[in-house]
Amino acid sequence: MTAEATQKMQFLYALRSKGVTNSRVLTAMEKIDRGPFIRGYFSERAYEDMPLPIACGQTISQPSVVGLMTQALDLGPRDKVLEIGTGSGYQAAILSQLARRVYTIDRHRRLVQEARAIFESLALSNITTLTADGSFGLPDQAPFDRILVTAAAEDPPGPLLAQLKIGGIMVLPVGQSDTVQSLIRVTRHEDGYDYDELRSVRFVPLVEGLGKDG
Ligand code: SAH
Repeated sequence: MTAEATQKMQFLYALRSKGVTNSRVLTAMEKIDRGPFIRGYFSERAYEDMPLPIACGQTISQPSVVGLMTQALDLGPRDKVLEIGTGSGYQAAILSQLARRVYTIDRHRRLVQEARAIFESLALSNITTLTADGSFGLPDQAPFDRILVTAAAEDPPGPLLAQLKIGGIMVLPVGQSDTVQSLIRVTRHEDGYDYDELRSVRFVPLVEGLGKDG
């Protein structure tokens, strides 16, 4: 077996052993190579199950957490998805394999530009990128079947709750940024919202306004 094949096998094994068992999610994660989403010094660690630093002081999430969040979203092939926190673009690329259309927003213009270039090079044409404060969602495209937030807020932002379809699911970390946060799944019903706590996680905070680079 080549070194590359061994690395890929270990990557998928780590995902499964941490509870990523949905075959569609595993197939998407096998197809989308995490390598191109990490630049420079840390790129050789792309296939390890750990979060890594990216530009603008942000992090690319741990692959098993990406897998568990994606699995919790229970995506269908016709779904329109909103992601808040593009970061490297890795999570959005995984979502693009499982949904019809993905809108992804980050407050750092540089991250959005770099992610867009990778999406273009991989011909992932169903992803739309935007630089904005994602706490307000994307009213123009609402409502969404699914919403994924990859930065921690103290509470689920009201505009995002409002932009979820009835029957829709939102997955997000909530809690103070310097303590342990909870990953929660919010399901919208005709007459309200249900909240499930999935596990503890640690994400960078959801920050108001645009990043200094625009
Ligand atoms: N999903 C990413 C990891 C995200 S890290 C990946 O796959 O690599 C969290 C990201 O959320 C950071 O890039 C940060 O800039 C962004 N972020 C924080 N607050 C935000 C806000 N209010 N609006 C949009 N993006 C935000």
